[in-house]
Amino acid sequence: MEHLSVTNAQKCILESVRLLAAESAGLEQSLGRVLAEDVRANRDIPPYDVSAMDGYAVRSADLANVPVTLEIIEDIKAGDMPGKTVQAGRCARIMTGAPVPQGADAVIRVEDTEWVSDKKVQINVAVKSGNDIRLQGEGMRNGDVVLTAGTEITPGVTGVLATVKRAQVQVYRRPRVAILSTGNELEGMDDPVDPDKIPNSNSYALMAQVQALGMEPDLLGIARDDPAELEEYLRRGLRFDVLLVSGGTSVGVHDYVRPTIEALGVQMKFWRVAMKPGHPVAFGVLQRNSDVTSKAFVFGLPGNPVSSMVCFEQFVAPALRRMMGHERLFRRTMAARLTHKLKHQPGRTEFVRVTLAKDGGGYAATSTGAQGSGMLLSMARADGLLVVPAESTGLAAGEQVTVQLLDGTTFQGEAGFRE
Ligand code: AMP
Ligand code: MG
Repeated sequence: MEHLSVTNAQKCILESVRLLAAESAGLEQSLGRVLAEDVRANRDIPPYDVSAMDGYAVRSADLANVPVTLEIIEDIKAGDMPGKTVQAGRCARIMTGAPVPQGADAVIRVEDTEWVSDKKVQINVAVKSGNDIRLQGEGMRNGDVVLTAGTEITPGVTGVLATVKRAQVQVYRRPRVAILSTGNELEGMDDPVDPDKIPNSNSYALMAQVQALGMEPDLLGIARDDPAELEEYLRRGLRFDVLLVSGGTSVGVHDYVRPTIEALGVQMKFWRVAMKPGHPVAFGVLQRNSDVTSKAFVFGLPGNPVSSMVCFEQFVAPALRRMMGHERLFRRTMAARLTHKLKHQPGRTEFVRVTLAKDGGGYAATSTGAQGSGMLLSMARADGLLVVPAESTGLAAGEQVTVQLLDGTTFQGEAGFRE
């Protein structure tokens, strides 16, 4: 079989995976999930015209010649209902969010007034009708769709849902993910340190990548390179929506993952992608006989720690995001200037771990150092993955490159503005 390009492999995966069913979730547990319903406003917000300031509700016509002294007829606090109508020459003391009384058509903020007595105030400025009044329904109108299905629940969206009193919302179910590591050389977290063994980092790095997407995966542990043991673990993993298998996907004599999952009924869609790192990466689908709509998706990820993480970013993350209803599936990319030259043999798309630094109006990308696919520190130090196009014959210092942002997609080290 020919090597797929990264893009074609992504396409193959995204054509296979589907949105999961909707379920009801408590608002307090919905951050980061995706709405599976349109949500409408259940009242006008604000419910009546309210003051935008602490000050005085006035008739703008009374302010033709300022300063002018007005008589204060009442005090209106937020939550109060005004009892009186404001007549000519009069006003009401009003607090932010309190209803504007009958007769008044503008609010003067307290800073633009002078105290005369408890019953009188001097207004120093003239304003137009409507000044500092928030109109009924200007925030949202009763019956309007305020959020559409497919919207990610951010803190702002949570606020809107609370405004329309949705303690429960319909969201897409999150995929249940299992993670299995394979290899006789692996040492588990609870095993004593054995200098001849390799610590199982992949289960944990993958776990963290899944958690970063808002899911809590199950760690199935380590399967030895033994077909019978592997089969038992894989059977367990195939009960989940998504199974991530690390290692054993190459063509070594002890790489049993592919034949074993195929024997369990998984239809392999591909097992080679023209990328570096991460070339032995596999994807398959298990159609469950019991339920035609139910499928398990299996990703065979390379054992090398960096390869496993890079493949997760390219293939697993978009699939999980699609399953849980997201419309934006891919990591944000940005343009940066490469600070040094980079060798590249044409043929495979390469993902180079880089750090990013401010560089004039843009950003400069610098390799995190040695890029071996086993060098996990290159990943731990990286801000992003520089994508070297497959056909490139190498990049020169100063060239503009594309960097896929890893962590820090929405955060940065400094506030980044001046006041
Ligand atoms: P494999 O893809 O099974 O041939 O594994 C390639 C290499 O990746 C192995 O020789 C190990 O050094 C390393 N490796 C495999 N699985 C893990 C794991 N779970 N955690 C850390 N390193 C791993
Ligand atoms: Mg192995």
